[in-house]
Amino acid sequence: MPELLKVEHLKKYFKTPRGMLHAVDDVSFSVDTGTTLGVVGESGCGKSTLGRVVIKLLEPTAGTITFEGEDITKMKSSYELHSRMQMIFQDPYASLDPRMSVSEIIAEPLKIHKLCKSREELDERIRELMDTVGLAERFATSYPHELDGGRRQRIGIARALALKPKFIVCDEPVSALDVSIQAQILNLMQDLQERDGYTYMFITHDLSVVKHISNEILVMYLGQAVEKSGSDELFDRPLHPYTKALLAAIPEPVVKKDRHRELLKGEIVSPIAPKPGCRFAARCPYATEQCHSVNPELQEISPGHFVSCHRVKEIN
Ligand code: SF4
Repeated sequence: MPELLKVEHLKKYFKTPRGMLHAVDDVSFSVDTGTTLGVVGESGCGKSTLGRVVIKLLEPTAGTITFEGEDITKMKSSYELHSRMQMIFQDPYASLDPRMSVSEIIAEPLKIHKLCKSREELDERIRELMDTVGLAERFATSYPHELDGGRRQRIGIARALALKPKFIVCDEPVSALDVSIQAQILNLMQDLQERDGYTYMFITHDLSVVKHISNEILVMYLGQAVEKSGSDELFDRPLHPYTKALLAAIPEPVVKKDRHRELLKGEIVSPIAPKPGCRFAARCPYATEQCHSVNPELQEISPGHFVSCHRVKEIN
């Protein structure tokens, strides 16, 4: 699969009264066409900021973003760019204008980008998009508050697909939904990818959600990538202590008596002007003096499996 997106040494800092907040700090990855990169981490780890910087809703502090072979790092956020890159938000209710009907919401990007030549063509495209995301035609005149969370997220997806983007950042798209509805939305997104070849960056705090939808997974901790590998490899052979703790926190339907859970202890350090050293050291049971003074680099431990940990070989 050809590479669609390449992100190199991306940084996004925010000025705060207490110093620079390192929301995204030297993150690199690439995503191939028609695949899904899952981005996982606790809230506040910088994953949503990363998604917004990648599609230029926020300007990066440093680093480069190459999309379809073109350096878009300095490109101003534009209509043209947003027709190629779109976003699906966590809370569909908050991201939809409550005064607009379903058809008006889906029509808006089509009108802004002047993609339909006549009213008939516009209506036909709205019908087609509603059908694509499994929304019955009778909901065209409904308002967001009249629909359940799953249907509202289907509107968000239809709106994101309206411009036929190549790349979609999905920011916690199922976190606000009931578990049964989550599965429906995930299946819909997978079906759309198989049918139309969409490329996703799927951001979530819940590793179990991305297991089946992702080809590759990037685990983030306090603005940095701590582990990156193929999805199966990450679940079969997690190497970073933080990834292991995230996996241990996934609830199991039947709890085995001998199950060993490595639960996280300790405080998350501040992302404002972070001290040198591994950012996970304050919570890591394997931390040594070196960990508290030298930031580990992300290194390839086996083909395609990258980890940033000084002691990765000793502890695995
Ligand atoms: Fe733990 Fe040290 Fe590895 Fe960081 S570098 S994860 S503190 S062992």
